[in-house]
Amino acid sequence: MNDWLTRDLQHLWHPFTQQDEWAGEPKLCIERAEGVELIDTEGRRYLDAVSSLWCNVHGHRHPKLDAALLDQVGRVAHTTMLGLTHPPGIELAERLCALTGLDRVFYSDSGSSSVEVALKIAFQAQQQRGHTQRTRFAAFTEAYHGDTLGSVSVGGIDLFHGVYRPLLFDALRIPCPDRPDPEAEARCLAQAERLFAEHGETLAGFIFEPLVQGAAGMRMHSPAFLVALCTLARDAGVLLIADEVATGFGRTGTMFAVEQAGIRPDILCIAKGITGGYLPLAATLTTEAIFDLFRGPYTAWKTLFHGHTYTGNPLACAVALASLDIFRDEAVLQNLGPRVEALRNGLLLLRHRCVLERRQRGLMAAVRIGPFSADARMSHRVALACRDEGVIVRSLGDAIVLMPPLAMTPSQIRACTAAIGTALHRLVPA
Ligand SMILES: *Cc1c(COP(=O)(O)O)cnc(C)c1O
Repeated sequence: MNDWLTRDLQHLWHPFTQQDEWAGEPKLCIERAEGVELIDTEGRRYLDAVSSLWCNVHGHRHPKLDAALLDQVGRVAHTTMLGLTHPPGIELAERLCALTGLDRVFYSDSGSSSVEVALKIAFQAQQQRGHTQRTRFAAFTEAYHGDTLGSVSVGGIDLFHGVYRPLLFDALRIPCPDRPDPEAEARCLAQAERLFAEHGETLAGFIFEPLVQGAAGMRMHSPAFLVALCTLARDAGVLLIADEVATGFGRTGTMFAVEQAGIRPDILCIAKGITGGYLPLAATLTTEAIFDLFRGPYTAWKTLFHGHTYTGNPLACAVALASLDIFRDEAVLQNLGPRVEALRNGLLLLRHRCVLERRQRGLMAAVRIGPFSADARMSHRVALACRDEGVIVRSLGDAIVLMPPLAMTPSQIRACTAAIGTALHRLVPA
């Protein structure tokens, strides 16, 4: 009965997965973990170089996170925020506001939900302040904000989103370069200027992934470009919605990426790293000015009628608090420098004629390889081949993504980049 991989094929449907491909390729079944290593059912160990899909921060089975979870289990695993409240939810809201400079926290349970909430808040806030013509959103080209239909509507990755177009609302597209090249950014900015001049008065909000468009394959832009765009949006009365689901919690070198641009968004979406990668939790933060637009007597009908069953789950909040303690007590951000440097050096050492480009900000990185036809599935095959080197990575389009936990040591990070080099040389001999 322990033939997990055969049984997997009987009933599971994996996310973002062509099941016919999955059925035909070697598979791993992860049974436990220690620090930044995943351990499969055969006892083999792998460095978790994608942070278990971009959310693990301090490593797996961190004693303080484990203890916080167990302590909360001993009190209550789940209650509700609809009509009741609880200490870890309150304390976490206080700490998140202090960290971000924002004032209100609305909990949900996935990055996609945090974006749905942000879009609804922005739209309703504009309606309730009398800007009833502001019914649309601006978003970047190649944006990724999650997989629910609202977040897919503002998303712009055709491969993921194209088939659903008939179900979606239209978003206005702000072009965003794939690297912080001043000329490309100036061109995009000029287009954005025209867009805001022409349509600014119909826009409720501008949603963006600050500095790094993760799911698009780690496309990057400069803080100055983002500042200029946000100024245009602000001047047009458009609310700023920063989606830091991927970039938050130290990924780009600062706690939040907007700090590097000195931007205080009106609305901020956070998820992935919030619990250190332990439990599903997300939050949409807003300013007090936005919150005030939702206040009034019940029959003024200004309430935000939105919520999820597991909104603000106490177990998740307790672990999130412990994760923030670790950031503080173990000086996690202050210790990032040598890790970021190890990643940079490791990427530079990747010498192969098929390496087209390396992209990095903080501990977010991608290596683009090519030219290969799509059906060669080369980046995917390189990612699979890395497992023979004891490293778990994933591909995104023609890129191989590296997103190590912030706790990964410099030498482990170098082992991850070296694995990509070895795999690439094995599959495509020089
Ligand atoms: C992953 C991601 C989301 C969606 O989060 P889920 O928890 O997978 O729903 C939204 N925005 C960005 C920028 C992301 O990287």
